Amino acid sequence: MFNFFIDASNKNGDSYHISGDNYNHIKNVLRMAVGDEILVSCDSKSDLCQISQIDSDCIIAKIIKENANCTELPVSITLFQGLPKSDKLELIIQKTVELGVSEIVPVEMKNCVVKLDEKKKTNKVTRWQAISESAAKQSKRNVIPKIGNVIPFADMINLIADYDMFLVPYENENGMKATVDALGKIKSGMRIGVLIGPEGGFDDFEINKAVQFGGIPLSLGKRILRTETAAIATVSLLMLYSEMNLGGD
Ligand code: SAH
Repeated sequence: MFNFFIDASNKNGDSYHISGDNYNHIKNVLRMAVGDEILVSCDSKSDLCQISQIDSDCIIAKIIKENANCTELPVSITLFQGLPKSDKLELIIQKTVELGVSEIVPVEMKNCVVKLDEKKKTNKVTRWQAISESAAKQSKRNVIPKIGNVIPFADMINLIADYDMFLVPYENENGMKATVDALGKIKSGMRIGVLIGPEGGFDDFEINKAVQFGGIPLSLGKRILRTETAAIATVSLLMLYSEMNLGGD
């Protein structure tokens, strides 16, 4: 079933009025017709709808089952990702959105190889947001995870306190005790932050600051993972743990 993200302003009683790119996609690309069913995601939930009318610039889709497909995790995960080289962040966005991440914020850290100027940053964030939308559609998410602006490490540190739990997978951490302990404390509805270092890993100053401000350093096993593998592994771990223990169906 195809999934479309529609702004709440286009909801009218028990139907959605679909125009613009979504209209073009449904009518001209997918060649759907009156009677066909689609999922419409709006305000963090998805309704099962049936196309009831196709006009010259608008499709009317009538809701036949509200909240038909709840796909969000029982916890919200914000991934703070040390800015990696080339198009690695695109892979990280695509995969972690599929796995259920709520938000991704790229972070400039000491050992980052890339340095983006302001104009490049704005263009990149627009592109990254489009990748998030396409992954959200593909994996039938109820929301499109937001890709935040690139922030410096010094700003990120002050955000740690906003989270119920803040995990810092650290390449020099030994043993799985901290990982098991942290997972055991996760409760439904928690806001969990995760900070992953860039290819060059954490600078000593950064890991110390992150811990001082409340981050929990933990291991992802005995092997050193690439930054993109570490991000995907951490979100997978949180996805599976929360769905298995906190009311996934
Ligand atoms: N250059 C570093 C590795 C950096 S890996 C070195 O050679 O030691 C990039 C990031 O992935 C790390 O900063 C950390 O956040 C995460 N990471 C990779 N392997 C990990 C592991 N085994 N445990 C926890 N975090 C890990």
